[in-house]
Amino acid sequence: MTGNDWYDRTANGATGCVGDTGVAPVAFGGLRGRERHGPKNLRVPTLADEMRRQLPIPPRVVSVAKKPRSAIGLGGHAGTVVWVEDLGVIATSDAYTPAPWPDVERFARDRRPARDYGETWTRRLPLAAYRFEDASPFESTPGGWTREFPHRLVSPTRSADRAFVEQWERSPWNDRLVTDLALHLLRSRRLGRGPGTDFLGLSLSSLDHTGHAFGPESHEVQDILIHVDIAVGRLLQALDRDVGPGRYTLALTADHGVSQIPERLAAAGQDAGRISSTDLRKIVDDLATTLVGEGPHTMLYSGNQLHFTAASIDRLRKTPGAFDGVRAAIEAIPGVARVYDAAELASSEPTTDGFLAAWRLSYVPGRSGDFVVLPRANWIVSSDRATHGTPYDYDRRVPLVLFGAAVRPGRYSEPASPADIAPTLARLAGVRLPAAEGRVLAEALDARER
Ligand SMILES: [Zn+2]
Repeated sequence: MTGNDWYDRTANGATGCVGDTGVAPVAFGGLRGRERHGPKNLRVPTLADEMRRQLPIPPRVVSVAKKPRSAIGLGGHAGTVVWVEDLGVIATSDAYTPAPWPDVERFARDRRPARDYGETWTRRLPLAAYRFEDASPFESTPGGWTREFPHRLVSPTRSADRAFVEQWERSPWNDRLVTDLALHLLRSRRLGRGPGTDFLGLSLSSLDHTGHAFGPESHEVQDILIHVDIAVGRLLQALDRDVGPGRYTLALTADHGVSQIPERLAAAGQDAGRISSTDLRKIVDDLATTLVGEGPHTMLYSGNQLHFTAASIDRLRKTPGAFDGVRAAIEAIPGVARVYDAAELASSEPTTDGFLAAWRLSYVPGRSGDFVVLPRANWIVSSDRATHGTPYDYDRRVPLVLFGAAVRPGRYSEPASPADIAPTLARLAGVRLPAAEGRVLAEALDARER
């Protein structure tokens, strides 16, 4: 899992991790799809893929998310995999089905983001239930919203355009639609009611969008989490009713935490700050031009990875001192802690540097950047108010909850990771995952399942 996107040297452009120009969109609700997403770039099978391959009774696989990469990453190479396009169209692609699934179509006929136009987001609980202040001066005012509740889901054009969908994405309505669609398919596909084991995946992304704009201490983030709690409650109720208590196992986690808003910490006298990726690239491009001649040199800065054209990196390596000079220049930027190059990331040499060890897990030759930039703690390389993507505690500590059949209730102090979920669920489903990086969380399973 190298990142959300990378620089594709063959196509000479940035590509999303689930981008696939070879597929066509399949849209629901009588709308037209425009985006092209599919599992082509997935090089390993997902848990759902292995369930399909190994189980004697084929599983029904449903994966629903707002973000295509979340739906596809959970579902894998086949199944009912549904996402929401940037313009609010509920969609999949012909990588999964040649024609709209009738049950998704029924849902999308009366439910789509545009139906939420004009809604007003207010706090779910009384003001006293929220910590910190609502109108922190360090929060952003995304798309015309103020820093304080209430927030209206509207657009300056008075239509359900991209500006509206951006408001919708960071509101509770995003998670609500994804949850409602998952519950709709739980029923229509009769998941968990047949003789085999089925798979339902859903990803709730309102928190990510909100966290970027308002930071982790905001009332908006707290309110989204209250709504997530309600969504999980609805999911459990539906599973108990439609599948039955003790007949399903659920795993809940998050793919990352989030930084504080650096300006907020800096105002309190802490070492914190922001690096502009545009400035960073300009420093590197200017120096590379001086060292080896005209570019293009850098092509993409994404997920703290800096990607160069193949020709540029080749010239930098062949010119004595040039590669190291560029690296030293990045390391000299205030707020940068360390820079790793592709050779260090690809190496299997033992290292005592835990950050390097962590970055190596995400290194994919041909996809990862030529340099990884590690900012100092509480520094971010982003124009978002807050962001994630470092190996610091605030980014990497996430909840991990197992619940239901074969789970031994308790709190466990052994180190555990979201990567352990697939091997654990695979054990319960009777599926082998020989290539998985994680471990079976045996300490949390009933004795007969260990
Ligand atoms: Zn994010």
